Amino acid sequence: MKLVLASNNQDKLREIREILGEFGIEIISQGEAGCNIDAQENGSTFQENARIKALAAMRATGLPAVADDSGLEVNAMGGGPGIYSARYGGRDLSYDIKNRMIIDKVAGSDDRGARFVCSAVCVFPNGDEICADGVINGSIGTELQGNGGFGYDPIFIPDGYECSIACLSDAEKNSISHRGKAFKDLSEKLFRYMEKCDTKEQGK
Ligand code: IMP
Repeated sequence: MKLVLASNNQDKLREIREILGEFGIEIISQGEAGCNIDAQENGSTFQENARIKALAAMRATGLPAVADDSGLEVNAMGGGPGIYSARYGGRDLSYDIKNRMIIDKVAGSDDRGARFVCSAVCVFPNGDEICADGVINGSIGTELQGNGGFGYDPIFIPDGYECSIACLSDAEKNSISHRGKAFKDLSEKLFRYMEKCDTKEQGK
């Protein structure tokens, strides 16, 4: 099975390719599919934004498309930056600075709790849609740690770990992450969907 990934984020592309590759699902980037759209993420939930991006890529390419919308929710910031994670502090601000801004926001709070959330939506030209979500709980560290991953990884310490998620290899991160969980669930649902389509086709 081949899906277009509605994202220009190379870090996401790498992680999602690796996760879905294990299930034999091939991902092509929207650039490789010949389109370079940047859909306006004006939804009010992760799932709405993922659907907006997936639909835009599916309409532009005519192929089944998948998108994820994800972000960091910090208790001491009332659940923010949440769906605004990529835009927090301005899109062009470095993650080094964004991460330090969050450490400063959490300093002084006795609740360092946080979670990464991911919503994955896959849409088909016939109007069918498959959704899956994933969450990883953890806390905000007091300093940046590790060189792996991307974005807010250096300040996010998963529950049960001593070090940030940026200290893990890609494979280790994918085995516990919000994105890993959402896309594993999505692949299982995709396989059930394909089986149902095959059965319908054979019954014709
Ligand atoms: P999106 O591309 O609109 O879904 O924005 C996702 C943003 O959430 C990213 O640009 C990061 O700021 C943050 N984010 C989501 N997943 C991760 C992750 O796995 N590690 C670190 N930051 C993440």
